[in-house]
Amino acid sequence: MSHHGTNLVSHLLPEDRERTAIHLPGGGVVGYGELADLSARYAGALAAAGVAPGDRLIALTQKSLRAVALYLATLRVGAVYVPINPAYTRAELEYFVRDARPSLVVTDPAREEELALVCGPLSARVATLSEDGSGSLDRDADPRPAEHDIAARESDDLAAILYTSGTTGRSKGAMLTHGNLLANAQTLKSAWEYTADDVLVHALPIFHTHGLFVGLNVSLLSRASVILLPKFDVAAIADALPRATVLMGVPTYYTRLLEVPDLRARCAGVRLFVSGSAPLLTATHTEWRERTGHAILERYGMTETTMLTSNPLHGERRPGTVGPPLPGVSVRIADADENGVGSIQVAGPNVFRGYWEMPEKTASEFTTDGFFITGDLGRIDEDGYVQIVGRAKDLVITGGYNVYPKEVETAIDALDGVAESAVFGVPDPDFGEQVVAAIVPEEGAAIDQSAVERHLAERLARYKQPREYVFVDELPRNVMGKVQKTVLRETYARAEHAA
Ligand code: ATP
Ligand code: MG
Repeated sequence: MSHHGTNLVSHLLPEDRERTAIHLPGGGVVGYGELADLSARYAGALAAAGVAPGDRLIALTQKSLRAVALYLATLRVGAVYVPINPAYTRAELEYFVRDARPSLVVTDPAREEELALVCGPLSARVATLSEDGSGSLDRDADPRPAEHDIAARESDDLAAILYTSGTTGRSKGAMLTHGNLLANAQTLKSAWEYTADDVLVHALPIFHTHGLFVGLNVSLLSRASVILLPKFDVAAIADALPRATVLMGVPTYYTRLLEVPDLRARCAGVRLFVSGSAPLLTATHTEWRERTGHAILERYGMTETTMLTSNPLHGERRPGTVGPPLPGVSVRIADADENGVGSIQVAGPNVFRGYWEMPEKTASEFTTDGFFITGDLGRIDEDGYVQIVGRAKDLVITGGYNVYPKEVETAIDALDGVAESAVFGVPDPDFGEQVVAAIVPEEGAAIDQSAVERHLAERLARYKQPREYVFVDELPRNVMGKVQKTVLRETYARAEHAA
């Protein structure tokens, strides 16, 4: 068909069939032609299963070549791709199936029965995908890839619904259009000068914006190749680095990789290290530069908007900032305080169409002039670099004073013997809220509350200093490595009550 110009998938599958698209963990390679054929076969199987343009398809699949082909197949038939973390339990899945109302759920054969129990009453069908080719989609696919058609889609048509990470509450479905995703991929390709010669180490999950729309889309759009690692594994990443030009990761990747010996030699051929999804500590940035000679490029975005800002490829990468807005993206600070810190609001062709079936919520998160209220607090420095100060929901207001947890965390983390910390507010009858710090000591470090108190007394105004400390082995994190302050607040507010 000739009207597929705005279907994202037609930009992700080039004519050049021989070029390598994917390096498999086992050592094989898959060309763009083979990937296109596999996705065309799955598209045939999806069409045969009655998946129509606009239908939602839930992908609950392990990360694999076939899972990538299923993503492309879903776009081919014009359906809406809804990836879900395969680690979710049955009870958790039920929420997503109820919410997304898919016509088809694709999963691994091992979970077929379990999914059938969830989906049956909700009149969604289940199909399977398996790396050995024994899934129902493989069986039902036409062995002759005659199905090369790509469904016509408008730029405003939905391509995907991605659920947010659930850091601040229940995950919300963000509706992203073909136009949103194409704009994001094209902008990043040009900002990072991504080319067909690039080889990306891809260890991120493909059910999240970072791995799917940054890692995968940008690479495929650029005709680059991807070393597809099934999951985060320091040894596997270290192993892949000598063959790579780009690594994309969350901050934890970098802190863990710092433990790898001969890191500098391994990184010699890498031109770009990208970090996002959570704040990168300045200490990690500095240590990485000392160990490898490379400055990590930190960028900022979210499920609802894809990518918003990026430190420059050429020019100064400023630690503690996420860089200036990407071309075409507007970022502004509303209701700024005397330090210029306020609510981060954004607009641009990459900003989503709204939350799936939550019109009131959507309306309340956009300003009257069309900016999306990100829920993050930040400021923009004199050179236009954006600094994230934290989430609006995490702001602690104690006795009428605003305390930004990140400022307190940074001060605590500077103390020797502290591995990391999380600062949050709990209800307090006198002050409204009270500042609490959860601290993870470094292994073997003898650190106590009075040492932290002495350290902070010299650095922070009295009202910013925590009134209570808890020492813990680790902080509660979700799958993207983000600290879940909601969990901390609930845990320690309840403990307070019980006491
Ligand atoms: P939920 O919206 O369900 O509570 P979430 O906001 O963590 O979860 P995502 O869309 O995955 O879900 O994450 C986007 C958020 O991650 C941003 O709003 C921001 O708070 C944070 N973030 C992303 N990149 C960075 C960064 N480089 N530095 C600091 N924070 C970042
Ligand atoms: Mg969010």
